[in-house]
Amino acid sequence: MNFVETISRKRDRLENSSAELEALAKGAADETIPDYQLAAWLMAAYLNGLSERETADLTLAMASSGERLDLTGLPKPWIDKHSTGGVGDKTTIVLLPLLAACGLTVVKMSGRGLGITGGTIDKLGSIPGLRLNLSPEEMKDQASQIGLALTGQTPRLAPADGRLYALRDVTGTVASLPLIVSSILSKKIAGGAESVVLDVKCGSGAFMPTEPDAVALAAALTRTGTLAGLRVDASVSDMSQPLGTTVGNALEVKEAIRVLKGERGRFADLCRYYAKRALVVVGESEASAEIKVERAMTSGAALEKARLWIDAQGGDNSIFESENWQNAPVQTEVVASVAGFVGEVDARRVGEIAIRLGAGRKTKADEIDPRVGLDIRVAVGDRVEVGQLLGTIHASNESCAESAVRQFQDCVKVLERSVPARDVILVPAETV
Ligand code: URA
Repeated sequence: MNFVETISRKRDRLENSSAELEALAKGAADETIPDYQLAAWLMAAYLNGLSERETADLTLAMASSGERLDLTGLPKPWIDKHSTGGVGDKTTIVLLPLLAACGLTVVKMSGRGLGITGGTIDKLGSIPGLRLNLSPEEMKDQASQIGLALTGQTPRLAPADGRLYALRDVTGTVASLPLIVSSILSKKIAGGAESVVLDVKCGSGAFMPTEPDAVALAAALTRTGTLAGLRVDASVSDMSQPLGTTVGNALEVKEAIRVLKGERGRFADLCRYYAKRALVVVGESEASAEIKVERAMTSGAALEKARLWIDAQGGDNSIFESENWQNAPVQTEVVASVAGFVGEVDARRVGEIAIRLGAGRKTKADEIDPRVGLDIRVAVGDRVEVGQLLGTIHASNESCAESAVRQFQDCVKVLERSVPARDVILVPAETV
């Protein structure tokens, strides 16, 4: 097949056939189509869009461009979850053991962070000894024993997406709805998923800054996922302020453990919400999902699953006993200089502070410092008094801490008038 014709059809706003999209994914994976041709097609697709049929075909073609994880033999139901990424988003670390404690089998591949949205692999990478490079065989074996397994992305699954995503990153073609949808879903299908619960983030700290854009992405993921044979349940959640109280790798793992031990708040509410959605998408009633999730949290079953999980992947289990690990050498408190109501804790700016502290990467080659980040003690709507703790900066040295303090003071806005607290779930699955 002549790939110039595939590019030309997209350039002329015509549809590409299933066969053309299969050849594209194959040529991307085995590198028989050169970068310049793939880049030209990506720009044509970015400018002229893809139909729902094309998006579904591209998704399936990319999912089949490498190996597929075959979960046959593992107890059903199988579930996967995905978040479009945000600042302080450590949901996977709570949700996976919680779902396994509710009787679901969860096999998940997660990514590293780039830019302000952190990656689960970096967060879990702060746990001494934890292995995050499991082979497909190890994943399956572990999931059969304890109900869950998590690994970093492997080039063996959906390799076409790896190549296309790297090109999108350098050709200004990341922000295309059908390309995002096919990229996300192809990896889920290649990972063996049958049902997926999707958390589409919305706000300054997310890919999709506005609610209509986030709803459009959630709806497109649901439609294409369904066409590709998946059961998909997508909701939109708030990312205008950081999720939970911490941003930074080890700090976020510690917070996730506190939630598994019973700490409540916006982040715990979001975890419970998505756990219920996961049970509903595999066929439970809302009422029974609610009971199962509450029981798994309050009985300690979810926490016990988390211990088994970290143990199974070689991690140091003492992280469950004390928070005295991966501590940053400098910890500086930030207090309110005026009284009033918190009107904004800008997620994007907090994410940028975390990167400058060393918690995230500006380029793929950057090293991250697992110890650093922010512990944020206020959320939009809270009343604060002069001298009240707004948060603590965790830094590798005094000078990094000092600039982060100034930047953090700037991104917490305290207003005279009262401000309503913001819901963590903005658009529930039923209304997407
Ligand atoms: N996440 C992905 O996996 N792919 C995209 O295109 C965007 C976000």
